[in-house]
Amino acid sequence: MSTKRDYYEVLGIENHASADEIKSAYRKLALKYHPDRNPDDPDAEDKFKEAAEAYEILSDSGKRAQYDRFGHAGINGQGFGDHFHSTEDVFSAFGDIFGDLFGFGAAAGGRRRARAGADLRYNLNISFRDAAKGTEVELNIPKKEVCSDCHGQGSAPGHTPETCQHCHGQGQVTQSQGFFRISVPCPVCRGEGKVITHPCPKCRGNGIVQVDKNLKVRIPAGVDTGSRLRLRNEGEPGDFGGPYGDLYVVIYVEDDKIFARRGQDLVVSADISIVQAILGAKIEVPTIDEPVTLEIPKGTQSGKILRIKNMGLPYLGSTQKGDLLVEVLVHIPTKITKKQEELLREFDRLEEGRPIKKVKDFFKKAMGD
Ligand SMILES: [Zn+2]
Ligand SMILES: [Zn+2]
Repeated sequence: MSTKRDYYEVLGIENHASADEIKSAYRKLALKYHPDRNPDDPDAEDKFKEAAEAYEILSDSGKRAQYDRFGHAGINGQGFGDHFHSTEDVFSAFGDIFGDLFGFGAAAGGRRRARAGADLRYNLNISFRDAAKGTEVELNIPKKEVCSDCHGQGSAPGHTPETCQHCHGQGQVTQSQGFFRISVPCPVCRGEGKVITHPCPKCRGNGIVQVDKNLKVRIPAGVDTGSRLRLRNEGEPGDFGGPYGDLYVVIYVEDDKIFARRGQDLVVSADISIVQAILGAKIEVPTIDEPVTLEIPKGTQSGKILRIKNMGLPYLGSTQKGDLLVEVLVHIPTKITKKQEELLREFDRLEEGRPIKKVKDFFKKAMGD
């Protein structure tokens, strides 16, 4: 199709056709060009898609009005139309319409295709330390697996599924509906074309069993809340021989009593005395491993943040680490002895007078002036 045909022309109807006429015209074309009746016929497939597109637009009063006024341009601008790249697209878009048109449920023709299994999610709480150092956990996951006795075939060992007598292995049977003859999935074998005569005792013929699977999972150092670990092929089994889905382990890291976390940096606060703040000191600060010595410079102000390089948490998949940030808080004693008071008064007498600075007018700011 080099140029797009008029939708009314595609369905072979008048411009003022009623909703019923549109439906009936589409029904005729969909049956005529149905892929089950025209296997490996690309021309029929094109016609089938073209009719579906025309029906999608004209069966919707809003889209139809748009098309009547502006033609294909009006529709393309809205992102409608021309998106049925395959007959499967048509089935997935019009599953209910096919059921409605033909009197049976969706996906006409029982085309069974291998489909990947669903992904699973497991929420895992770990301690702050385990997140920092990495750990190995053992998970017990209730899930479905392909039956190991019959390898998912559903037949007892020594037996194989037999050809369905009802549809002679076709997986579909032809039914008459008025003057239409249409194919529907075989009700006996449910479209499989084969029936299990001797069901596998372990899975009762389902090919799938419920198991509690034990999995050892290595949690790398440095994970944070929201980190996801993907375990390939540990999800649910696929349909019709499709591959397993994946298992996602989603991490929740508990808070720590000592450390806070900012990305891969650790934050800790350390109290020092007034004298340590004035004269400088060496103090011990905790890290994830052994405590380390931190040098407090002379004249450190309360609230100052000192950074110890590479004492934070490792970046995932890297040898680099974050830093340890130490917030230094100067402790002002509320109870002092007589002797201490004397010394402080003496200290105060010896202090050089501080120049009086203009006060920052924070009131003004707070009032929004
Ligand atoms: Zn089995
Ligand atoms: Zn059958």
